[in-house]
Amino acid sequence: MKNISMLILALSVLIFLNSCSDDIHSPADHFAPEGWVFIDGTGARFIQIFQGKFKSGSNEEFIVPLGDDTDHIKIKFFDKNGAEIDPPTSEEYTLSWEIKDADKIELERHDGEEWEFHLEGLKLGETEIQFHVYHEGHSDVRSGFIKVKVEDVD
Ligand SMILES: [Zn+2]
Repeated sequence: MKNISMLILALSVLIFLNSCSDDIHSPADHFAPEGWVFIDGTGARFIQIFQGKFKSGSNEEFIVPLGDDTDHIKIKFFDKNGAEIDPPTSEEYTLSWEIKDADKIELERHDGEEWEFHLEGLKLGETEIQFHVYHEGHSDVRSGFIKVKVEDVD
């Protein structure tokens, strides 16, 4: 009897772990990377987040020039082994973001470049940004909030 209830408990934990926020599709249909890589105009992986933490050597903030744009910043991801992977190619997946203090920075993208962006500094100070991979109306994965500093670089 005890074994059966343990089995039921184990099964329900498994089902819980596998369930999506909206249960529309099976977990295999989701994009489930375990980290984020932000690449600047020189190709440097200047921010790297793996399993919710900055990797050693990673910057922990975006520096954005006041009244100007950052370099073109490209997004890639880490798989569960920490290997870098490209963003999803299907149009079902889109980039979405939240900015805590929207009067400080603005995110800009060029047409057709889903996984690349610039940040523009509107006002001196600090805020935070979080990125999501959106998948047919729900967030498959989020980056965690990352600090953004708007600095007067002149
Ligand atoms: Zn999904």
